[in-house]
Amino acid sequence: MAESRRRKPFGKQRMADMMNKKIPMRQCVGCRQMKPKRELVRVIRTAEDELCVDITGKKNGRGAYLCPNRECLERAVKGRGLEHSLKTAVPKEIYEEFEKEIEKLEIR
Ligand SMILES: [Zn+2]
Repeated sequence: MAESRRRKPFGKQRMADMMNKKIPMRQCVGCRQMKPKRELVRVIRTAEDELCVDITGKKNGRGAYLCPNRECLERAVKGRGLEHSLKTAVPKEIYEEFEKEIEKLEIR
């Protein structure tokens, strides 16, 4: 019977399992290393062209990622990694905000 030869629809579930196991990796704009997204701090450019440090990773917008440490921040400043990724000028307030955020992380 043709009916018994019909393929079982397991494809979709399998894909979902694989997606769950796969850790999303992002490149730090400071050290250029690929790291799990969760370990990085995101700086985003919103639709309104505003920049902000997005510690939760939940805001929408074009994002650039940085390791939460001063070394990578300095490299990003010098190498203009953030500017390149976000395709806009990054005011120093953003770097200061980022610095505050990593200070909070260091305290924890
Ligand atoms: Zn880094």
